[in-house]
Amino acid sequence: QKRNPYESEFHQAVKEVFDSLIPVLARNPIYIEQNILERMVEPERVISFKVPWVDDHGAVKVNRGFRVQFNSAIGPYKGGIRFHPSVNASIVKFLGFEQIFKNSLTGQPIGGGKGGSDFDPKGKSDGEIMRFTQSFMSELSKYIGPDVDVPAGDIGVGAREIGFMFGQYKKIRGGYVAGVLTGKGLQYGGSLGRTEATGYGTVYFVEEMLKDKGLSFKGRTVVVSGSGNVSIYAIEKAQQLGAKVVACSDSSGYIYDKQGINLETVKHLKEVEKKRIRDYVNKHPHAQYFEGCQGIWSIPCEIALPCATQNEIDEISANMLVSNGVVAIGEGANMPSTLDAMRVFLDRKILFGPAKAVNAGGVAVSALEMAQNSMRLSWTFEEVDAKLQEIMKNIYRNSMNAALEYEAVDNLVVGANIAGFKKVADAMIAQGVV
Ligand code: NDP
Repeated sequence: QKRNPYESEFHQAVKEVFDSLIPVLARNPIYIEQNILERMVEPERVISFKVPWVDDHGAVKVNRGFRVQFNSAIGPYKGGIRFHPSVNASIVKFLGFEQIFKNSLTGQPIGGGKGGSDFDPKGKSDGEIMRFTQSFMSELSKYIGPDVDVPAGDIGVGAREIGFMFGQYKKIRGGYVAGVLTGKGLQYGGSLGRTEATGYGTVYFVEEMLKDKGLSFKGRTVVVSGSGNVSIYAIEKAQQLGAKVVACSDSSGYIYDKQGINLETVKHLKEVEKKRIRDYVNKHPHAQYFEGCQGIWSIPCEIALPCATQNEIDEISANMLVSNGVVAIGEGANMPSTLDAMRVFLDRKILFGPAKAVNAGGVAVSALEMAQNSMRLSWTFEEVDAKLQEIMKNIYRNSMNAALEYEAVDNLVVGANIAGFKKVADAMIAQGVV
């Protein structure tokens, strides 16, 4: 904390991982002898840069860009780019740190990284988004490449932004380089199934947790926060598995539709019209809209999938979910539960799937996109989806086994941290002190 003051989100992410590792260090003194924790908590490189751009009125604006290249022990740095006004060094470092273990869990050869900017895409024209994104990539392009660092999307960065970034990289490098970004459009090197991967993967993971206890999504009432990429495809897969999703949200408020959310309306509002979730009730007047995000957790449900942003479930919301009868939580977003909220779920023996395991499907399919780009092949949607399901099952199984091995039975927080950590730590030791 002395070395990284004011980085509360980064401290929170590190504490959650390192607390789980105490028994691993006790059983494997080599990790202490090699000072692995201190080496792991220090990013290999932190890049911070100026992003100047011109708005539609000719005014010159400046934002700050970041790329944290955290750990390359098992593969090139890999992790998304986030455009949101809250982005700062702490947020990018917490996300990059989490990414190390998540990427390791996927079983794919990818290291950990993350980037972003405090640019707010809301209300900006396509022209403004393009000019900002091109300026961002002009600097970022110096540090990335298919075997070095491969960014993707995250909050505020979807197909449009990836397209503009890819175009600018191509222009700077003087030619097409497929493997430099993932989440690309299908016309120019993207993978089928990448758009759906994080949301579908979230539900596949939770389905595994439920199956182990003789339960399933069928007939269950589900609440999903957010209405972006992860949320939309988590809702879609949950509905396909027979669940009734009754609520979703955006950063202004949430909708409650007791009859079950009409996903076509949400998709049209968010993916096509780029409108607010409150507009849902214009089409479905029987549904209710509430201002503010926190209230969504007061809606009774059996499965809760927080898929919006960090720290969206605090201790009060966690207690509310538990007293309303929740049986399973799957973290689609990164670090959506505070440490206190997580403690509530674990103490009350709620099935709890932590973000780095649950939402790893997105980056796993990004690694499959890299593989297809290298082979100059495209797999079908069914092939990609089958691989995704297999990967999510393996992550679940490996996390459960690690938890069992270290006497933390059924604790997937501990299990995912340990399973993700060991491979990276062993690779670091094998590569010497570098
Ligand atoms: P999107 O930008 O597509 O959607 C984000 C959604 O969350 C929007 O509905 C947004 O509302 C809402 N939201 C954002 N900030 C807040 C806030 N402070 N309070 C309440 N709601 C908020 O992002 P993604 O769906 O891609 O990402 C969502 C989460 O999933 C993030 O934590 C991300 O890191 C994580 N993730 C994403 C992956 C991916 O493949 N996309 C992979 C792994 C993790 P509004 O539109 O009003 O801003």
